[in-house]
Amino acid sequence: MRLLIFVVVLLNIINYVYGLTLAQLTTQINARGGKVIPQADGPNFNNARFGYNYRYNRIPTVIIQPSDTASVQLVLEYAQTNNLKVSIKSGGHSSISEGVMDNRVTIDLSQMKQISYDNVTRIITTQSGNKWVEFYDYTINQHGVATPGGSCPSVSIGGLTLGGGANDLSTLYGLATDNVVEMEVVLANRTIVTASETENSDLFWALRGGGHGGFGVVTQFKFKAYQVQPVYYSAWITWAWSDFEAVLTYVNQFSQFMPNSVNLYFTAWRSKDAATPSVALSCFYNGNKDDAEQFCGRFRSIPNVVTPPEFQVTNTSYYNTVKGGTDPKARQSYTKGGFLTDITKQTVRRIKTAMESSPLTPYSYNTARLNLYWQGGAMLEKSRGYNAYPHRSYPWNAVWLTSFVGSEFDEMYNKWITKTYRQMNTFSQGVYQNYPDDTLENWADEYYMENYPLLKGG
Ligand SMILES: Cc1cc2nc3c(=O)[nH]c(=O)nc-3n(C[C@H](O)[C@H](O)[C@H](O)COP(=O)(O)OP(=O)(O)OC[C@H]3O[C@@H](n4cnc5c(N)ncnc54)[C@H](O)[C@@H]3O)c2cc1C
Repeated sequence: MRLLIFVVVLLNIINYVYGLTLAQLTTQINARGGKVIPQADGPNFNNARFGYNYRYNRIPTVIIQPSDTASVQLVLEYAQTNNLKVSIKSGGHSSISEGVMDNRVTIDLSQMKQISYDNVTRIITTQSGNKWVEFYDYTINQHGVATPGGSCPSVSIGGLTLGGGANDLSTLYGLATDNVVEMEVVLANRTIVTASETENSDLFWALRGGGHGGFGVVTQFKFKAYQVQPVYYSAWITWAWSDFEAVLTYVNQFSQFMPNSVNLYFTAWRSKDAATPSVALSCFYNGNKDDAEQFCGRFRSIPNVVTPPEFQVTNTSYYNTVKGGTDPKARQSYTKGGFLTDITKQTVRRIKTAMESSPLTPYSYNTARLNLYWQGGAMLEKSRGYNAYPHRSYPWNAVWLTSFVGSEFDEMYNKWITKTYRQMNTFSQGVYQNYPDDTLENWADEYYMENYPLLKGG
């Protein structure tokens, strides 16, 4: 017995002096059901290091997929005792691949997927690694409840929630981050803490909107749950490009007076070498079908529109909507944007000109796009200092996006989006931190605005 105690103490002293080795870490992570993926593990390493944006080809020191919170503590111990930095990845959808960095230890939370629902407290508890399609599969298909989150299947809980998080449910119920009631966080000193309104409330404030900023590894979230309808009405409406100005002008006027039960997503894009760009609107309704037609039906005939639109209505479960959302694979992309302060005649014309000057390629998988997300309704009803997410003044989030396969298109798309962003920048204020842009000089002001000094601890 004395010998055993002696050996354990000795090992701890060696660990303390020399640090945890990768072999020791691997044994402990594996024993807890997780995975260590070293560079030598070629295909698995490559699979795990790439995220949504293949323009970033980063090589971390090692990728670790913990199975539980104690394993996250171990990874931090390994990194700290070996003088290595870490990065945190959940779903890997960051537009600038912030979850994977060169020469750092990647803490990849994608295997941490425990989820449960308490129908008495109406709280959903989930680990960070669930993708939104997995989250809604559990909450909607098994319990008939949901919370606002992401509209695309492969985006994960972690990154989306910590930066805000908006989908069709958000006009009525707010951002994903506004619906978090508690988080479990592993701090840099390896302690596990709870962040909520009553425990570590300053950390709780900062993580909701400022959570990409390195305050800790959030391993678990608790969300408020809302009962969902079995099906929701959604209209997808497309118009002739020649009607673009009349359509966007009307969409903006309509948005000023619509109820929170309506959500809009307006998009213009050019694929391949199409002679003109395309334009479409999604009109989602959280309520009954007749009321939905009363509101979304107005887009069937818009003043000054010459060609009648194509109008497709679906009534389906919210789980199916997310499952069928965009799931881009192995694409390179650029993303830039900002919240429009107004949609005037001049803004509409600038957008039209930008889209008409978008690059032409022979391939249908290459696109240049403007997405106008409505981030109004309940999302604007909190104050700008309610939590670290400050974008509570202007509802239209304009996101310019290029998506392509092949580095030979890089320069062409980069030039177009950079020029477009410069021209549009005067019409916007603030940048949504969930669409980060690593060319922004004043990123702190753009993402966090007046909340940045408090995030810095000032
Ligand atoms: C196809 C697509 C669809 C999208 N749809 C929507 C949408 O409907 N609504 C919306 O609001 N946004 C949407 N986004 C943007 C999305 O919210 C962000 O890309 C989000 O940050 C992705 O989260 P992730 O966990 O998948 O990404 P990751 O790249 O893994 O993480 C993003 C950032 O969060 C940090 N992070 C992740 N997990 C943790 C954690 N547990 N603890 C601490 N830090 C963490 C990472 O370090 C990184 O900085 C979409 C993006 C894409 C590419």
